[in-house]
Order: sequence, then structure tokens, then C-alpha cells
Amino acid sequence: MQESCERQYESFRFFLERQNWSYDYDKIREAFVFCVTAHEGQMRCSKEAYYLHPVSVARIVAQLGLDNEAIIAALLHDTVEDTTVTLEDIEEEFGGEVALLVDGVTKIGRLSFVSKEEQQAENLRKMLIAMGKDIRVILIKLADRLHNMRTIDYVPPQKRRDKALETLEVYAPIAHRLGIRAIKEELEDISISQLDPVAYHEIETLLTGKKQFRNQLLLSVRERIEERLSKEMPGVHMEFQSRVKSINGIYRKMYMQGRSFDEIYDIYAIRVITDTVANCYNVLGIMHDMFRPIPNRFKDYISTPKPNMYQSLHTTVIGREGVPFEIQIRTVEMHETAEYGIAAHWKYKIGLNENNGRMEERLAWIRQILENQSEDGDASDILRSIKVDLAQEDVFAVTPRGDVINLPVGATVVDFAFAIHSAVGIKMVGAKVDGKIVPLNHVIKTGEIIEILTTNQVGHGPSRDWINMAVTNQAKSKIRSWFKKEKRTENIAAGRAEVDREFRRNGIDFNDEKQQETFLDDLAKRQHFNNAEEFFAAVGYGGVSLSRLLPHIKDLYNKLHQTANLPELVPPVVPAKEKSSGGVVVEGIDNCLIKFAKCCAPLPGDEIIGFITRGHGVSIHKRDCNNVPKTIADSPEPGRWIAAHWSVAQKTSFWASLQIASIDREGLIFDISQVLMNMRVRLSGMNARSTKDGNTMVVITVNTEGLEHLRSIITHIEKIHGVFHVERLNQ
Ligand code: MN
Repeated sequence: MQESCERQYESFRFFLERQNWSYDYDKIREAFVFCVTAHEGQMRCSKEAYYLHPVSVARIVAQLGLDNEAIIAALLHDTVEDTTVTLEDIEEEFGGEVALLVDGVTKIGRLSFVSKEEQQAENLRKMLIAMGKDIRVILIKLADRLHNMRTIDYVPPQKRRDKALETLEVYAPIAHRLGIRAIKEELEDISISQLDPVAYHEIETLLTGKKQFRNQLLLSVRERIEERLSKEMPGVHMEFQSRVKSINGIYRKMYMQGRSFDEIYDIYAIRVITDTVANCYNVLGIMHDMFRPIPNRFKDYISTPKPNMYQSLHTTVIGREGVPFEIQIRTVEMHETAEYGIAAHWKYKIGLNENNGRMEERLAWIRQILENQSEDGDASDILRSIKVDLAQEDVFAVTPRGDVINLPVGATVVDFAFAIHSAVGIKMVGAKVDGKIVPLNHVIKTGEIIEILTTNQVGHGPSRDWINMAVTNQAKSKIRSWFKKEKRTENIAAGRAEVDREFRRNGIDFNDEKQQETFLDDLAKRQHFNNAEEFFAAVGYGGVSLSRLLPHIKDLYNKLHQTANLPELVPPVVPAKEKSSGGVVVEGIDNCLIKFAKCCAPLPGDEIIGFITRGHGVSIHKRDCNNVPKTIADSPEPGRWIAAHWSVAQKTSFWASLQIASIDREGLIFDISQVLMNMRVRLSGMNARSTKDGNTMVVITVNTEGLEHLRSIITHIEKIHGVFHVERLNQ
């Protein structure tokens, strides 16, 4: 090795020697040389030699307390992807275990989480499977991502946002779920600094501004606590730490919950680490005697751990200075779990066997997500639930027998029932919270005692609207699969009714039944069903989301019926004596003041109706506008509605707004303008924004001569490359 590499190795070895582990330094040196040789001549964006990246990743892996194989795999993690080295080479040199780890990390590296939703879901699934096989794979991957985020300033700006978003949405939640606080917080803070730099610097400034004050506060409080505890609990093992909330933690409270910096009570915290659970509660008692606790701010995560196994007592108190701060009390072992989560398993080698149970518990959620996935059809739904499952804080409710059930915030009684057991959910007829009957959509709060009332009556089962009441993936998919299995006939009927209803609402109409049948069969086959019946059944049990399919159905329909089924466009012949204003004839009234309702912005060709306002003339609405009663005779003021129609005599122009959905591409706006210019259409407004799923939504307001003209504008815009949906707003 070159001298500079040799020096790097020395410092790496020195670092490892300070870890609580005996490594095989011969093998590690071999891997180090292998890594340097493989990446020879490669550079990172920072212009550093490439091999320094895997070495940094290996340091983080060592800090997490992982073993020899994991450190070697970290050193080699980019060789298969970026160099000529093969997995076979690695297996030959370093054994099958290292090769498996490198293979796992390489595979995860190829997955992208910034692409389309379904693909994201599929990728996440693959990652979870990899994690289920050997959790070290994801720990190395997290270390890799952490080092890449630390050096993100060297990455081109466009890629930074993508990486930051992916880190915030996928990697940080996984670190959180695995309980690795340090990595989770650092990943989040760097992501926020990229995604919302202004807010990030604002918080940073607030924190540095109060640095001196904070240090003094924490120091004096800590001294007083130490003094008091050494007096009251002499000889008991005690450690003290001061902590400042992470920037992302403050960011979430300020920008998502709308609190001001001074309203966040747990920015400063003192941590007391002691030996036993009993002593944790003893310390708590003394703390509440020393400081005034803020009501409802005490949390006992010792008796009910968080889903990532975090355990601690939290209480917020007010000190002499009048500043609220948090005290966290936990045992040494709980502290290790809080900092290193699943990795504590290696770091502290806390009796491998005894620890396996907890490891299993932590991995259980991965398995559960995978199981739910196979029962369920729609991949993007799963992704959303995984994100919800990963990101949300939890509530804890108790069964009458005292079992604690963990659920995400917002979970209802339905989720609770299915979390106990699917048989309980299916037989549920009602629920009691703290002894009182509640509706099934009751949102659960921590500490509630919930009793599920069940029946053994044959033929009883869940109701379809439970799917909407449930928030957990688990409950939703169990309800769906019940419907799928038990209720085929009913599913078909329910699905058919929903299809009919949606078709009517969207003006999808057929001349005869045969035509409709052919259309539905065709649609079903496009969705990979054998026939329309199967499609109805899937809609019925919720396996297919009709609302998500609608744009596609409309397209299909429009293509089939472009010419055949256009609604009547020709206005009725108007007797010559009628006078119109603004192109509208209001029956029985000559020359009245008319205006077009903003809610529906009618166009010539639309069926319309007038409403006599108080002092502002007649306001013209589309007949099917939401503000027009369905049956005029039954409405509160039937006398004020008045028939109206378009005059043929006068040519007037109207403004209409169109919403254009397109893939995000350069030159889109230019192309839209070009189309409008060629059609000589005047444009009064244009607004483009990118949507969450990476597409672009453009809203334009154009001057049009009427419905037919507007349709031709829409047809032309639809032909623009990348545009996949155009619709008129204010319908
Ligand atoms: Mn890497």
C-alpha cells in the first residue's frame, strides 16, 4: 500500500481498538488492502480517493458495535457495484457470510425509492426481505447512507433533494423502527437542511442564540439533581447526561404542529441513567419533589415500551428559572437499547440467547408488513401504509385483561379489534371504552381500556365501511380478505353498484346494455381480470380502487365515444323577439342584469339555470352545479330559480380553467403555449407546480367561445407529449 493508505489504515485500526470487540485484524487488513486496490483511481464527488468512503462506512458500522464480518463487508460494500470485483472473488477471499452481506447491500443500493409509487413499494418490499434475512445488511446500508448524507454538499444540487427525501421517507424511519436513535436523528437533520434550508438555519440560529443560557441552565439543574440524588440514594449507580432536541424534532413541532420555539417544552433534557427499574421510579419521585411537574406530560415508556422497544420515563418539569425542561430516567440497559436499538445486540453482547426474543420482537413488524402485502393487491396502498406504519408515533390501549395493544396515532376501535385477533375483529358487534359503548370509528387514546363485544351468531361479519374506519394496514387487509373469501355474490353486487354510481357521476353513459357490457369486459381484461364479474368482485371487496382507475376509464370511454355520444350541443332555436344579455336568455325577463356563477363557470353548450339574487340580477349556474338543488320544487325557495338558455344570436367569449396533468419534463409550458397560440386562444393565467408523485400539474385559464371550442382545446392539449390527463375545473 502507498504510504498515505498505510497511515489511513493505522488510524482505522486505532479506532477499532477502542471499540468493545476483539476483531480479526489480519482479515480486516486484508479487506482494507482489497478495498484500496479495487477502488484504485476512483474518486468521489468530493475529489477524495474513493476508498475513504467504505472506510468511513466501516467506522460507523464499528461504532454500532457490529462484528468482524460486518466490518469487512462494509469495507467491500461498493466493490461489486463499482469495480470489476465479483461476488465469487469476495467469497473466495473472505467467505460466504461476507459475500452474502455484500450482496445484500449491493442489491439494496440498486433499489430506488424516488420513482413511481408501485415501484417504491416493490423496492421497499425487497429491502424488507433482505432485512428479514440478515439485519446486518440494513445496518451497513444505514451506515453507508449516513456517510453519503454527511458528504452530500459535494453532490450536484438536483440529486441532493432526491437523496434527502428518500432518506427522510425511507431510511430514517427504518433507523427509527430499529431503535438506532443517533443515526435516525442525524439522517433527519441533514435531510431537513437540504429540503428546507431556510427553516433549518432559523432553528440553528435560535439554538445557538440560546447556547450560553442553555448551557448554564442545564449545568445548574444537573448539579442540583446530582447533589440531591447522591444524598437520597447513596451508593446507587447514577449517570447524568444533558441533551438538546434534534433540529428535525424541533422542526416538526414548529412547522407541523405550529408551535413557537418557546412553546416546545422538551428542547432541553436531563437524562438520569441508573441500575434498576425500581430505582427509575424512585428517581422520578425525587424529581417531582424537586421540581414542579407539568400536568399530562408524564410518560411511562417503561411499563409500555414504544414499538421500537424504547423504554424510559419522561416527565416535563419547571425549574427555578421558569424554563420547562424534560427529565428522562432509564436503566443502563434501556439506555443502550435507546441509542443503538437492534444493534445493541452486537454491541453489548447481552447474552445472545436471552436477547433473541427481543430481536424477534423487533423483526416482527417486518414480517407483518410482508404478510399483509401478500394478502393485498394494490402496491401503492401498501407503500402508503408502510410509510404510515413507519412514521407514526403510537398510542397504547389496554384490553380488559390488561394486555397492552400498540397502534398508530389515529387508530380506531376497528384497528384495535383486528390487532387482538382477526377472529375478534370479524365477530365484533360493538365496543366499550372505559365501560361506555362507543361508535366503532372511535379514535383511541393512550391508556383507554377497550372491550370488544362479539357475537357467535352465524352469518355475522364485518361491514364494508370498516375499511374506511381502519387506519392500519393489518385491519384493512384482513377485512378485505374476509370480503374476498366470504362474500363473492355480494361483492359482485356491491362492485357493480359502485361502478354504476361512478359512471353516472362522471357522465359515462351508454346507448344500450350490450355496449356497456362490451366496454366493461374490455376494461376488466385490461386490468388483468378474466371478466367483468371478477372485476366487480374486486371493486366490491376493495381490492381495486375505482377512484384511482377513473381517469383511465374516462380516457377509454372518450376514445370509444368521442363522436357517438357527445351531449346535445346545439342550443334551442330562440324566437327572434327574445333579448339576451351576455349570450343568455332568461325566460320571462328582458334585459336583466346577469352574471355567471363563479362556482361552476358555465359555458355556452352547458345546460344552465338562473337564480334571482337579491339586488344583483340573475346569477347563471350550470344545471348540475352543486349549488343548484337537484329538484327545484323541493328546494327552500323554488320561486327564485328560473329557466335560462343560451342565445344563438350573440357571440360572446368566456373564461374557463383547465387542469393539465403531465409528467415532469422540460419544455412542457412552451408546448402548451404553442398549442394555444396556434389555435389563437387567449390565455389569462398559467400556474404550474410539481406534485408529490413527481408529476407536474398546470392550471391554465383560457378564453373560449363555448363548450365545443373548449373540447377542441382539450383534445389538442391532450396530444402534447407527456400530458396524461386534462380536465375542466369548476365542474
Ligand atoms: Mn457506498
